[in-house]
Amino acid sequence: MANMQLEATINVLQSIVGPERVSAAQADRVQHARDQSSHAGRLPDIVAWPQTTAEVSAILRHANEQRLPVTAWGAGTSLEGNPIPLFGGIVLNFQRMNKIVQVHEADFQVTAQPGVLYKDMNQQLTRYGLFFAPDPGANASMGGMIANNAAGIRTVKYGATRDNVLALQVVLANGDVLRTGSRSVKQSAGYDLTHLFVGSEGTLGIVSEATLKLAPLPEHFSAVTAAFATVNQAAEVVFNIIGAGLGPTALELIGASSVEMLNAEEGTELVVAPNLFMEFSGASEASLGEELKLVEEICRAYHCQSFQAGVGREARANLWRARHRMFEVMVRTFPGYDYLLTDVAVPISQYPALVAAANEIMTELDVNGTMVGHAGDGNLHTAIFFPPDDNRGRENAQRVNDHLVETALSLGGTSTGEHGVGLGKQKYMLKEHGEVGLNLMRQLKATLDPNNILNPGKVLAYDTNWVIIPQ
Ligand SMILES: Cc1cc2nc3c(=O)[nH]c(=O)nc-3n(C[C@H](O)[C@H](O)[C@H](O)COP(=O)(O)OP(=O)(O)OC[C@H]3O[C@@H](n4cnc5c(N)ncnc54)[C@H](O)[C@@H]3O)c2cc1C
Repeated sequence: MANMQLEATINVLQSIVGPERVSAAQADRVQHARDQSSHAGRLPDIVAWPQTTAEVSAILRHANEQRLPVTAWGAGTSLEGNPIPLFGGIVLNFQRMNKIVQVHEADFQVTAQPGVLYKDMNQQLTRYGLFFAPDPGANASMGGMIANNAAGIRTVKYGATRDNVLALQVVLANGDVLRTGSRSVKQSAGYDLTHLFVGSEGTLGIVSEATLKLAPLPEHFSAVTAAFATVNQAAEVVFNIIGAGLGPTALELIGASSVEMLNAEEGTELVVAPNLFMEFSGASEASLGEELKLVEEICRAYHCQSFQAGVGREARANLWRARHRMFEVMVRTFPGYDYLLTDVAVPISQYPALVAAANEIMTELDVNGTMVGHAGDGNLHTAIFFPPDDNRGRENAQRVNDHLVETALSLGGTSTGEHGVGLGKQKYMLKEHGEVGLNLMRQLKATLDPNNILNPGKVLAYDTNWVIIPQ
């Protein structure tokens, strides 16, 4: 932004939100330049912290008139470059719009502002015996989870964020405030605008409030680990558990090298082999016990090397604490390395084929890689690490990514199960959606954001003339 325009914009933003909630300081700009991925960052010109929908609306109205890029920022934990302000401009940080507006206890619903962090929200909801189930490892904001359609270890039972959003308040690019959906769990009234915004990565509108479905906290649950000789056997067990109609609340695949890292860094004492981490919950101890018996039978039929079921809160908390720290543990194991995280997903019947393909390409290219997956919903991540100056390592990581996306698409799946398109997945969009699908998406973007001010350069920009660099 040129100096004069910068000064004028700061003045306008200060008049909207007050001087203390606008900053062009280098430290604030640096903090909003990149997410948790390895994608190169870009400094925004200005950061603002709105507190109300009216403030968001006034800022967007001004930005739209002046053709200034605006990128929403939740907690910055994305893994595909989603909130990087590629063309500078204004970053809107939602940290201060972090209230629970209302708990609709009788309906198992909550209305919340976008900046509330989901772990904080769930903490506040425990006194109602309720929780918001989609559960990414990081303490993400609700706005960021809605924008990325985040998911996690509990998606196998409760669905992704998309399945748990009932209604939204969205500020459009021109500043208009839109309300979508309703609090009814059944909705059939016209086009589904709510879910158009879920997963749109802040490119179609800015979420300023959301009404979400909650689930009751389960009373009886069990955490289970089982180790297998090969990752392919573990993948077959995943397919068989789901195919048998058993209903895990979580079913995660942890590759052998990831298990080794957890043992070293987190003090777990798991058999160093591909493991499944599972959780089951039931209405009674008896029904839970019956379900666990069937799970054990399936695991033993595939010659599991160990099977451990620990009923109770502590066993469960320990297991998921270790699982959630996996990314941190991997980063600690390869200090100073760059990394590429893959995120493909397939129908569950194809999961064994996907895992076999991942295993094969990682062995063939001999990459520093690990495998973890939200296996119960067909989602597989690999993490490939390489020194920043190792071009061959970087190329090989990209080859793994390309190969896994090709494989997932050929198996009826998707290039991204939960991290979103951001920057890294744009080049696969044509193959995944086809010309007609992609053109329709471009038309939707052009209708909702004709001046391309909202998070420009994301989702649809690759290899097209689509990016209009704002003046
Ligand atoms: C250790 C670790 C583990 C993770 N595990 C998982 C996992 O299991 N599953 C998973 O899905 N993800 C996972 N993630 C990725 C990340 O947590 C999710 O993508 C999450 O949705 C990002 O939320 P955020 O609040 O950090 O959003 P940000 O990264 O700040 O932003 C994400 C996107 O949302 C947009 N946005 C933010 N707020 C709004 C708003 N109010 N309105 C419109 N757009 C908005 C941004 O512009 C950006 O495009 C993990 C990340 C880490 C670091």
